[in-house]
Amino acid sequence: MTKLRLAIVGAGPAGIYAADILLKTERSFDVSIDLFEQLPAPYGLVRYGVAPDHPRIKGIVTALRDVLDRGDIRVFGNVRYGVDVTLEDLKQHYHAVIFSTGAIKDTELDVPGIDLEGSHGAADFVSWFDGHPDVPRTWPLEAESVAVIGNGNVALDVSRILAKHADDLLPTEIPANVHEGLAASPVTDVHVFGRRGPAQVKFTPLELRELGELRDVDMIVHDEDFDHDEASKTAIATNKQVFVIDKVLNQWRQREVGQASRRLHLHFFANPVEIVGDDQGRVRAFRYERTAPDGQGGVSGTGEVREVEVQAVYRAVGYFGSPLDGLPFDEKRGVLPNHEGQVLDDEGSVVPGVYATGWIKRGPVGLIGHTKSDAMETVRHVVNDQANWWTPADPSEEGVVDLLRSRGVEYTDLEGWHRLDEHEIGLGAPQGRARVKVVPRDEMVRVSRGAVPAQG
Ligand SMILES: Cc1cc2nc3c(=O)[nH]c(=O)nc-3n(C[C@H](O)[C@H](O)[C@H](O)COP(=O)(O)OP(=O)(O)OC[C@H]3O[C@@H](n4cnc5c(N)ncnc54)[C@H](O)[C@@H]3O)c2cc1C
Repeated sequence: MTKLRLAIVGAGPAGIYAADILLKTERSFDVSIDLFEQLPAPYGLVRYGVAPDHPRIKGIVTALRDVLDRGDIRVFGNVRYGVDVTLEDLKQHYHAVIFSTGAIKDTELDVPGIDLEGSHGAADFVSWFDGHPDVPRTWPLEAESVAVIGNGNVALDVSRILAKHADDLLPTEIPANVHEGLAASPVTDVHVFGRRGPAQVKFTPLELRELGELRDVDMIVHDEDFDHDEASKTAIATNKQVFVIDKVLNQWRQREVGQASRRLHLHFFANPVEIVGDDQGRVRAFRYERTAPDGQGGVSGTGEVREVEVQAVYRAVGYFGSPLDGLPFDEKRGVLPNHEGQVLDDEGSVVPGVYATGWIKRGPVGLIGHTKSDAMETVRHVVNDQANWWTPADPSEEGVVDLLRSRGVEYTDLEGWHRLDEHEIGLGAPQGRARVKVVPRDEMVRVSRGAVPAQG
């Protein structure tokens, strides 16, 4: 073997880091990598998950772009595994494949009323405000009062975007339809509910503090939530992150409120019981049971049920991976079953030639940086598993191009991405904005394939 032909499916950070690490790894063979991505643009959740008003994190795109621009990775955008290419196709043309398909769906939440009109998954809303091409262009924003379930950073992103005045998002890359939708929102109150106490949240301090800086939005916290038990006191005293969170929340307790036109309420010790509907099947209220610390860092129910009037509910209780054609799937965790990135079958044996990295390997937790260490582990196995690789009938670089063309797949490439990138930057320039995202998939493809004259 002199050359490994490797397919990577999913051009989010995990896939791009895996390609980068493999190319830099010391090895006894050459490598040629093809990166397949179902969207016409790369970067996964960095482009379609990270909130538009987090430009510093969005900036990670620059590092990912540098990897692709080095020129030794071929990109095939607008190619969906399971539709445009199958596992059998990959076996014909490659020695191995790494799946880095991430997670895009919401985890289910089993409470009565979750299917009412006005009850949404956070992931769908995030996809909308980040201009994902596969979600509808409009979002129902008729609620004055909204509940957000969850105490992680995605709950904060959703609450912040809902509560923020739309014009304050204009300096960001939000698409025009998103600005229009948010500008028409009548929202006045966003209520965030967490099952446990303020010392047990999964927010990070920076993201929490940011809420308190929103223009014309009062932060409302309740004194009853700060009667800390011993476990919480210990957490505050020993964990720097919890200490800072406690400090931020206590500053808000001292603040004067009442002047702002919008309010963001944080409710702790609140376990969802029911989403209550009206006689038209629409959300009317959010019902929760008050919990209390159990002395060990957890909570238990108190039996006291409360209700807040809301017209929309967002559940931000986690993301979930999707199964991939022809591959085993862990239905409980929403991941490809694997050992350190080597995909395992139902009996727990290694599936030859098939690897996983990123959120589809580990589950949807952790930051972008974590996908790097993840990729290192997976790549180590790819390199050491030579005996397990496939024997492709046609490992030539043209083979897969011929296949996609013969199927009429309108794939985009790296040059096409540069074209789309420049086009978006051009759209933003007259308004003094860094970029305006193109949302419809067919328009993204047309621009990428050079069918639309450059902007700017
Ligand atoms: C709302 C939100 C906010 C976040 N904010 C931050 C933050 O501020 N800072 C931070 O560090 N991390 C943040 N994260 C976490 C970060 O986004 C993830 O750690 C990271 O994106 C996971 O990388 P990944 O490559 O595994 O998956 P993804 O980024 O999801 O990439 C997977 C790629 O695979 C593609 N794909 C999927 N299925 C197929 C298929 N069948 N065929 C071809 N391609 C396919 C997808 O289109 C996607 O491009 C956030 C996550 C979310 C959800």
